[in-house]
Amino acid sequence: MSIPRESSRRPIVVIDGPAGAGKSSVAREVARRLGLPMLDTGALYRSVALAARRRGIAWDDEAALARLAEGLDVRFEPTADGGRRVLLEGDDVTEAIRTPEISDGASQVSALPGVRRALLDLQRDLGSRGCVAEGRDMGTVVFPDADVKFFLTADLATRARRRRDQLEADGRAAPPLEELEASIARRDERDANRAVAPLRPAPDAIVLDTSRAGFEEVVQQVMAHIAQCCPGLVGVSDAGA
Ligand code: C5P
Repeated sequence: MSIPRESSRRPIVVIDGPAGAGKSSVAREVARRLGLPMLDTGALYRSVALAARRRGIAWDDEAALARLAEGLDVRFEPTADGGRRVLLEGDDVTEAIRTPEISDGASQVSALPGVRRALLDLQRDLGSRGCVAEGRDMGTVVFPDADVKFFLTADLATRARRRRDQLEADGRAAPPLEELEASIARRDERDANRAVAPLRPAPDAIVLDTSRAGFEEVVQQVMAHIAQCCPGLVGVSDAGA
């Protein structure tokens, strides 16, 4: 795939895929190597779910959720250790948006067309200076003209195991594997079957099955595709970094 880039537009790389396919960690590393900010769009849907919970808005009240999403005050702030904080109305919610309950809430609110519409401009605005954007509909809806599109996938058992390892690495209690599998499968089902922006690869996306590949291998595959289709995006020093 080779998409001509307008010189006035900043580079956009998108990485879509189901929960637990490794999108976040791969997107973070690819963004670092390309010197671009990472845009974690799942954090926006998670923030809507959390803000709704805090205000007593039900996760199926589309009109109220759309209003909430429209005025959503979410900011991403770099931390001293190279990480990133998510601020909701100035409050650090980095941890609070990652609980299993909020994961489920995010999946519910994200199925509502009014909520997706309300977050569209915010996502485009956040990515306007170039980014590596990760989510479910980056390549199909939010950034259809992205320079390069990836769709990462992996089998369910692998994704549940990775989610458990990630929770444990973050020092949080991980539910049993069967529970994680069931919750990921439930979110997959909802994400893939919703009427708007269902989870699916863009026709021009490069699909990578990461079930049997380690983190570094996936990052290298992604970087190799970028180097091939958009050589201008990859500096000499980044190519094998
Ligand atoms: O990627 P993450 O697991 O943080 O996303 C949380 C939920 O937000 C997903 O289960 C999905 O339902 C929703 N989402 C979405 N579109 C995006 C990003 C996330 O529908 N672009």
